Amino acid sequence: MKAKFDRTFEYGRKMAKSCVLFAVVLCVLGLFMPQGTYLQVILIAATLAMLAATVVVMYKFCRCPYCGKRIMLGVLRVKSCPRCRRSLTTGKKMK
Ligand SMILES: [Zn+2]
Repeated sequence: MKAKFDRTFEYGRKMAKSCVLFAVVLCVLGLFMPQGTYLQVILIAATLAMLAATVVVMYKFCRCPYCGKRIMLGVLRVKSCPRCRRSLTTGKKMK
């Protein structure tokens, strides 16, 4: 059996993506609510909570499985680790 490739990064990226999408949906809903209603306040609070959750997810999961470098900026489109240059989805060394 082959050594299991560490999928933590991919998992974290998927989670972060869902969190961002959810935050955007909540934000849009909040903007469509009548100004100053409780519902709007709740939706905006939920948006901020989702954004905070996104940061936590990124901080916890989005790091290179090889050298441990945290990858926060551009995490949704980055393909290889900026430090060790290995692919974050296949583990192959990139040139
Ligand atoms: Zn790395």
